[in-house]
Amino acid sequence: MADKTLFQKIADGEIPSDMVYEDELCIAFRDIQPQAPVHILIVPRKPIPSLDDLTKEDQELVGHLFLCAKKIAANEGLHRGYRTVFNCGEEGLQTVPHLHLHLLGGRVLRWPPG
Ligand code: 5GP
Repeated sequence: MADKTLFQKIADGEIPSDMVYEDELCIAFRDIQPQAPVHILIVPRKPIPSLDDLTKEDQELVGHLFLCAKKIAANEGLHRGYRTVFNCGEEGLQTVPHLHLHLLGGRVLRWPPG
């Protein structure tokens, strides 16, 4: 069996995290290096490496991640808005090869993101 990804180890409690939400399909925890007052990673339990590896089979799962983002944003009090981001691949500056949706908020976010 392939080695567990960092985020699978977090899901299994082998690496500690500040978990804010979990269900049968995904987990959500605070980023260790937050880029905004609220910075949460929403991670499917299924270890899909990146956005580029999604298949038709994952369509509902991805929708689920966004609905979780909306719910968590409300729980975090992000009533004035927030941003969700999937970094993908080398030029997208993805560093952890396990699909994750960033949820950022709590300040005015700049655009373009750089
Ligand atoms: P990426 O650059 O792949 O889009 O995002 C990976 C994110 O995971 C980064 O924002 C980074 O700070 C976060 N991260 C990396 N290692 C850990 C960890 O061990 N715990 C937590 N909570 N976040 C991590």
